[in-house]
Amino acid sequence: MVATVILGMLCVHLLCFCVMFLLISTRLNSKKMGMEVFALGNFLLGLAYILQLVDGPAGWGLVSVVNHSLTLCAPVAYVLGALRFFDRPTPVVRPLLILAGTYTVVQVLVQWALGSEARYALLAGACALLFLGMTGTLLYTGRTIARDLRVEMAVFAVLVAGICGLNAAKLGMILTGGMAALDMNTGFQKIFYIYMSFLATVLPPCAVWLVLRRLTDELRSMAAHDPLTHLLNRRGLMEGLDAHFRSRSAGPAYLLIVDIDHFKNINDSHGHKIGDLVLCRVADVLKATARQGDLICRLGGEEFVIITLDTDRAGALQLAERTRAAIESSEVPGTDQQTPIRCTATIGVSEGFTHSQALDGVMQQADKALYQGKASGRNRVEWAGRSIGF
Ligand code: GH3
Ligand code: MG
Ligand code: MG
Repeated sequence: MVATVILGMLCVHLLCFCVMFLLISTRLNSKKMGMEVFALGNFLLGLAYILQLVDGPAGWGLVSVVNHSLTLCAPVAYVLGALRFFDRPTPVVRPLLILAGTYTVVQVLVQWALGSEARYALLAGACALLFLGMTGTLLYTGRTIARDLRVEMAVFAVLVAGICGLNAAKLGMILTGGMAALDMNTGFQKIFYIYMSFLATVLPPCAVWLVLRRLTDELRSMAAHDPLTHLLNRRGLMEGLDAHFRSRSAGPAYLLIVDIDHFKNINDSHGHKIGDLVLCRVADVLKATARQGDLICRLGGEEFVIITLDTDRAGALQLAERTRAAIESSEVPGTDQQTPIRCTATIGVSEGFTHSQALDGVMQQADKALYQGKASGRNRVEWAGRSIGF
């Protein structure tokens, strides 16, 4: 009786969270992060347990065969959902249909050759193996592609290892005690379904937490980056600078404003789209030329900022000249492919600074130097106060 009540509660949990996953997936539009597949997994498992309630004591029959196939397909659906969460596009319906069909045939053959006991042992063994694989994969994922989620992956691994252990124990009990081990009134079955209920309650909020983390990380990144070039925007620059100067050992920084020369002409002669390509090309050149850890930002329009960290004036001026020369020698294919588009840039370099509150001041210095560079003929580096005259 107790196990039956627990099983009933388990069905309710699974189906409620199935609806919640579905609702979340409809809000996520194109990038559903596997939520719709987790909903399917919950639906399959909920259905399997409803069939178990309807079917009564363990034995042979169509309902029991369908129940076992659904019970095996549900965790596989969770695996496929997790793959989608980690941006691995994967088919869902076909693999699940193939698995359900194959496992149904295997069940019939095992039942025919070895009897009900073997069919139940097969399900417990298959689930134990599947959950063992999932535990290993979760631990591996936390150490490789999802280092930022390693705590969450470790928690999932422990929870899944628990259900793996319970299935292995069930297999052992069926092999030694026969069908009596499946009596719903045994202590083991109560523990089994209490643990399943616990998982069905704990895991869905954990999955929602992962989606929330992913969404807030994406929002934070969007708020700090320029959508065209994917460089930092002004806000991202400020955050990066704050983080740099928070370190006790931070050395002085220099700010370079890079402004493409006569960019309006490129837009006017080749169109806005090609203008955008030129902006992206210049962004790539800046990334390739700056040192590891330097902050690179698109201020807006055709103006970029590099903040070079832990360096001196000579290092900043060398970087500025390297950047100027690299932009001058870079090119973007034009509309007719034959005549590539080239551009140059003028760069204003600030004095050194050692705290992030100085940003507005050094920006003005570099802007003034840039203005002098433009007035002196463009395609040159100028630092606050003195023309370098390359
Ligand atoms: P100067 O050498 O004095 O810097 O001249 P300039 O033509 O580069 O500067 P100006 O400020 O006159 O023109 C900047 C142009 O940049 C005007 C604007 O249409 C264009 N622009 C601003 N943002 C974008 C963008 O996102 N994409 C494209 N394609 N063009 C942009
Ligand atoms: Mg310009
Ligand atoms: Mg400009």
